[in-house]
Amino acid sequence: MRLLVTGGAGFIGSNFIHHVLEETDHSVVTLDSLTYAGSRDNLEGVLDHPDHEFIQGDIRDRDLVSELVADIDGIVNFAAESHVDRAIDGAEPFVSTNIQGTQVLLDAALDADINRFLQISTDEVYGEISEGKFKESDPLAPRNPYAATKASADLLAQSYYTTHGLPVLITRTSNNYGPRQHSEKLIPKFIQRAAAGKSLPVYGDGSNVREWIYVEDNCRALETVLESGSVGEVYNIGSGEELTNLEVTKRILDAVGGSKDQIEFVEDRAGHDQRYAINASKTTALGWEPEWSFEDGLEATVEYYLNE
Ligand code: NAD
Repeated sequence: MRLLVTGGAGFIGSNFIHHVLEETDHSVVTLDSLTYAGSRDNLEGVLDHPDHEFIQGDIRDRDLVSELVADIDGIVNFAAESHVDRAIDGAEPFVSTNIQGTQVLLDAALDADINRFLQISTDEVYGEISEGKFKESDPLAPRNPYAATKASADLLAQSYYTTHGLPVLITRTSNNYGPRQHSEKLIPKFIQRAAAGKSLPVYGDGSNVREWIYVEDNCRALETVLESGSVGEVYNIGSGEELTNLEVTKRILDAVGGSKDQIEFVEDRAGHDQRYAINASKTTALGWEPEWSFEDGLEATVEYYLNE
């Protein structure tokens, strides 16, 4: 397939492009506007790949998107404003890129009659869960502005399948970690601060639980859904590895050789979801399963950030 990968200079998108170009026969056109979160450096090693073309541009640019989609088989839409804390400070860019940008891509996909539209959604669209795990059929109840815009895009994409028959697939993935993640996010930030002997600001009492998946496992899952998923369906992707933020912080300190005295409890994030956990059995039924334990993934991630 010839894929248009949007947001491919960001964290997960760039890992996905490396994976696709190294492990599959697909070719890739990357579209990324290079916001503060995107970097060409993330594509080092594949920028000159014969099956890859990088375009700096915005998913909200209708003319550009229509032109690019004309000879594309499938779209994988990673492009988004992705940081919850920034969405709390101001939701406008989130509404604009995450919802309107997705709409532009969906319209262009419809016009060009493409074969696959993979919308990258998130487990945050379900809101929080105190016990059990979210299934794909559970209602969406996002609780912060970032998650609300991702839920909107998710529903909009589903509506293009129902209304227009556009071959949409949706993935809702848990928290990713690994190489090439922006240092504003918890794991890279804490690795770098721990190694520099700085304090690690943990929200609230650190009891919030997240399910952590190593980005390489997620990329293989995305490839599986793209190639083998049924159109119109939603797929949860997760590792089953649940940890409190405090536990993650302690593991990072151990891995980096820092001291527990570096932990600093700070005022909790507004609307901070207590726990996310998802049932990924629909994706494992396609033949995928996670291969990285949190312990091994964290070791690889620490090595990456300390040698950057
Ligand atoms: P990221 O912030 O690292 O990357 C986003 C990329 O999108 C950047 O390269 C940025 O330049 C680009 N971009 C932003 N606005 C754009 C626009 N208008 N036009 C073109 N490009 C634009 O994000 P990430 O962590 O790699 O997440 C990628 C996707 O996966 C997002 O849709 C996010 O919601 C979703 N997701 C992320 C996680 C996670 O743990 N990181 C978990 C579940 C889902």
